[in-house]
Amino acid sequence: MKALVQTAPHVLVLRDEPDPAPREGEAIIRVEAVGICGSDMHAIHGHDARRPTPIILGHEIAGRVLDGPLAGRRVAVNPLWTPPDCRFAQEGRPHLSPRREILSMPPRPGGFAELARAPIENLVEIPDDMLAAKAALAEPVAVAYHAVHHCARLLGRPLPGARCLVLGGGAIGLAAALVLRQAGAGEVWLIEPNAARRETARRAGITHAEPPEAAPADASCALVIDAVGAAVTRAAACRLAQAGGVIVHAGLLPGADGLDVRRLTLQEITFTGTYCYTPEEFRVVVRLLAEGRLGALEWLETRALADGAAAVADIDAGRVAAAKIVLLP
Ligand SMILES: [Zn+2]
Repeated sequence: MKALVQTAPHVLVLRDEPDPAPREGEAIIRVEAVGICGSDMHAIHGHDARRPTPIILGHEIAGRVLDGPLAGRRVAVNPLWTPPDCRFAQEGRPHLSPRREILSMPPRPGGFAELARAPIENLVEIPDDMLAAKAALAEPVAVAYHAVHHCARLLGRPLPGARCLVLGGGAIGLAAALVLRQAGAGEVWLIEPNAARRETARRAGITHAEPPEAAPADASCALVIDAVGAAVTRAAACRLAQAGGVIVHAGLLPGADGLDVRRLTLQEITFTGTYCYTPEEFRVVVRLLAEGRLGALEWLETRALADGAAAVADIDAGRVAAAKIVLLP
């Protein structure tokens, strides 16, 4: 099969690789679409020791199953797998297991390729008329869905009537804003410095997509989702959250600068992390996407897998207005 292989930091090569071999309980998928994630970018930059080269990245996969009980069906692939005997899996929180595995991290190759292999239980069927590129959004949207519902539980009051704000208009941030709107949040703000990205968010239906200088007043937001996780966004989140509010942190950059622990203490603001999603949340998101309940999903851009290296360079240079680039093998 052809695969886009990362051979060294910043080097992606389209080359022939052995087809994945079938395994007990797993299926081979002909990849129709695979999204480029922030975590792929992190690895491409050489900043992820868990992903040594050479490696096939890509975990946001949709395609057609070639073998096993689902042969012939089109699916979105949940890339996260935890051994079923793990205590976290038995508690319904498999994504927190120290034994979790994810496609694109050894021992599991990713989906920047014509073929991929995944556990059969991780395959979620999609309608035949659903564009593969839109189904590939299931993974990042599931991350956003989990973040929203995690902090809504912590908020302890209904989302309708609550002012909610998202920092960062990439795929996770925009998806979080769309999930908040779908969940009935009273007011949804998206703060994003890049004008092209704000325009993408407005076209997706987020009317309050604003630059940082036009953010609402300090201490006015019940719920703040930091989808960037940098010092400047942590500081903004700590200012914007109202007393008794919730901040959810979805970034993975090192460091904790910007966190105002004194204000969190005096105002009883809950600060929490969020990571991935449960298998049930992934299924719910596939259904929401397929039914069009998160909008027309036109905030993605497709490119050929062979042009993956150029797509990565465009993301690095900030030349991409879409919130997500999806590669088509
Ligand atoms: Zn991802």
